[in-house]
Formats: sequence, structure tokens, C-alpha cells
Amino acid sequence: MPASRCPSSAAAAATLVAVPSRRLALPQTLARPSFASSASVDPRLARPQRSYTLAAATAPTRTPLALVPNSPSLFPHRSFSSSRAMASSTQLLQGILDANETYAAAFAQSDPALLKKLAVGQSPKIFWLGCSDSRVSAELATGVAPGSIFVHRNIAQCFHKGDLSASAALAYAVHVLKVEAIIVCGHTGCGGVRAGMQAAVDSSEKEAKGEEQPVPEPGSVADTISKWIAPIKSLASSQLPACSAASRSPLDTLSLAELTDQHVRDTVQAVAESDIVRAAWDEGRELSVHGWVYHVATAKLRDLDCGYKGGAFHLSSLVFSSLLAETVPE
Ligand SMILES: [Zn+2]
Repeated sequence: MPASRCPSSAAAAATLVAVPSRRLALPQTLARPSFASSASVDPRLARPQRSYTLAAATAPTRTPLALVPNSPSLFPHRSFSSSRAMASSTQLLQGILDANETYAAAFAQSDPALLKKLAVGQSPKIFWLGCSDSRVSAELATGVAPGSIFVHRNIAQCFHKGDLSASAALAYAVHVLKVEAIIVCGHTGCGGVRAGMQAAVDSSEKEAKGEEQPVPEPGSVADTISKWIAPIKSLASSQLPACSAASRSPLDTLSLAELTDQHVRDTVQAVAESDIVRAAWDEGRELSVHGWVYHVATAKLRDLDCGYKGGAFHLSSLVFSSLLAETVPE
């Protein structure tokens, strides 16, 4: 049985959507064009008629660097990450430095004005909380130019209470840089979510057998990782009991994809309920919080439609699968 059909999962989802008057209304500059007639659609579902793409709203009016015409491909320096000829770390690092020389020269040639502007400062409109996974780059996934997104990444894009690093990044983005949108972005095949799921299954199996739960040595690698993924393990565990009776194996009751989605939703809620974000809403700031998932196999982003914004309740949200291909309507 998929986790989403489990009673515990349904209850969790109901709790998430029940948060009052905080659901998402995108800043108009970030929403995509409407494809539906407002006369035939519930007005709460209708998207703004005049809108812009994320890339257009965040990039400093120029073609995203990764897509500049002079670039031979999206990844002109991919060889240093895939070449088997790189026999040593010294060669690897030299390859990266060489690639930087090429990158800097191409940047200076294609958009010297942007380089000059970036040297003065930054004014990103987006804060991105994403996973540290090497396959998921905020800038590459969205195709925006440098200076467009303020990024914080950690394993499985967590926002733990007491995590000073994540809180400081969020606080700086919201209250100093004055970003307009916060994106929590998970991804398919997340090792952190998978580890939390496996920990929940292992714990459940030991409990079923009456065995003691292992306690990692304080400060060890296992201890550090288990503490970090504890909330994900807890989320996975919450979905196990109601489903295990109908399944041969606890693993059969859990879906990595569904856990990933739910973890993103939980993190979106945690960010939205933080004092940092609430303070911005109390000031009347235009600030929204969104939950997306990046699909590694297709490089596409999916909006979970679980966003929040202070003020009026709305259902409209970003649908992002082909955003980068969109043009900017006027
Ligand atoms: Zn991950």
C-alpha cells in the first residue's frame, strides 16, 4: 500500500493543509501565465492573467549564463567530473582551476556588465533551501544567472530547530536581502531521505523482534548522521504502523518518492512557521514559501502546491515543469 493511502499519512497531510490563512499566493512577478478561462474556473484556482517566469523575474534581464549563446554546451567542463583520466586529486583540482579560467573568460566576454554589477553586491529575490546532493544545483536547475538565488544546502534540505546555519541563512535572506520567495527543494533519489526511511524500517524490525535499539557512540559518524536524519526517520516511522499489517515487509509500506514529498511539505511548514518568516509577514512583507521536488532523471522541477504566504488564502501556485522554456508575456 502506498504511504499516501495510510491513515497516518492522510492525517499528516490534513494537518498540513489545515494551517489557517497561510497558504500560498505567489507574487505576480513569479507566477506563470494562466491557461484557463477565469469564467469557468473557481477564482481561487485561477492563476494571474499577467505574469512572468521565475527566470525572468530573478535574472538580471540577461540570458542565464548557463545558456549563453557562446557556450558550446550546458556543461562545457563536464570532463573533470566524469573523466577517468583524472588519476589524482591534484589533477582533479587542476582541472577545476583550468575550468574556472575558461568559465571566467567566457563570462567576461559574454556579459561584462553583469560581472561588474555582481562585484558591487547582490539582490536575489529567491532563497533556496536544497539538498547538498551533487546532482541538484539551484542555479543549473533554474537556469538563472549568478546573483539570482541565495542558497543554503544541507543533507535532505532540513530545517531543524536549533540549526544556526540554516536559520542564519534564512534570516539574512529574508530580513537583509529581502527576498520575495523561499523555495524548499527536495529531489528524487535523496540519500538523506532514504537513510531516514531505512532507519525507520530497521528500528521497526528490531522492535518487532524484541531486540534493543542500537545507540551510536556519541560523536561518531553514525551518531552524527542519525541525529541529522532523526526527523525523517520519525516521519517514516509515523507511516509504518498503520500500514505494516497489510504488507509483508515494512519497506513495502514506504515510498521514497512519497516520503520525499512529505518531508518537503513538512519543511515548508517549518520554515513558514519560523519566527523569521512570521516576522516578515507581520511587517506586511510580500514573501511566499514553496515546496518543489527536482527529478534527477529528467532535470525537471515539480511544484508540490504546498506553499504559504501571509495574508489571504489562495490555491494558485507555480507549475514549473516547462518554466525555463517560457517567454515573458507583456
Ligand atoms: Zn538529497
